[in-house]
Amino acid sequence: MGSSLLDDECDYLFKTVLIGDSAVGKSNLLSRFARDEFHIDSKPTIGVEFAYRNVKIGDKIAKTQIWDTAGQERFRAITSSYYRGALGAMLIYDITRKGTFENLKKWLHELREYGNRYMVIVLVGNKSDLVNSREVEAEDGRSLAQQEDLCFMETSAKENLNVEDAFVQMITKVFEIASQKSL
Ligand code: GDP
Repeated sequence: MGSSLLDDECDYLFKTVLIGDSAVGKSNLLSRFARDEFHIDSKPTIGVEFAYRNVKIGDKIAKTQIWDTAGQERFRAITSSYYRGALGAMLIYDITRKGTFENLKKWLHELREYGNRYMVIVLVGNKSDLVNSREVEAEDGRSLAQQEDLCFMETSAKENLNVEDAFVQMITKVFEIASQKSL
């Protein structure tokens, strides 16, 4: 198994991307996972933003460079370079805004057009703490994931629910596939 990027502190380094409509919680999921931080009034950042995290898988260390759209999705300006080389993707919607769920088909289309053919995609319904404003049932997320052959999880970046699990699931799967396919 090779490595798409160079690093001597880990056994395998690869790129993953976060994708989904504006304000679904991408930046906060990333800061929660990478730095265990949550920001109540996070402002969209413009430009490219990414963070790293190491995950131990058996006796190996997998390191992932996680890219956040950093506000670009508001302008529909995500280009093929954003997806280039990515082996994992977290496709995120907000369970309190049905529109963000309805737009998933468009994001999936883009991911499949530009992404690596072996890309691991985890579907994430974020803001699960906002139970009273829920517009998308967990069952709807699960059934879309089944139809499209994706992993699925509901998370709360705010309450730190399932965030670690969702990322680790994606990273572990990428690691397994990369080992099999020599990516
Ligand atoms: P992005 O545009 O997709 O990167 O979204 P942000 O991470 O900037 O989050 C948008 C807004 O949603 C911010 O006000 C966050 O504080 C809020 N937010 C993000 N995740 C959660 C969550 O899990 N629960 C709640 N209640 N709010 C969240």
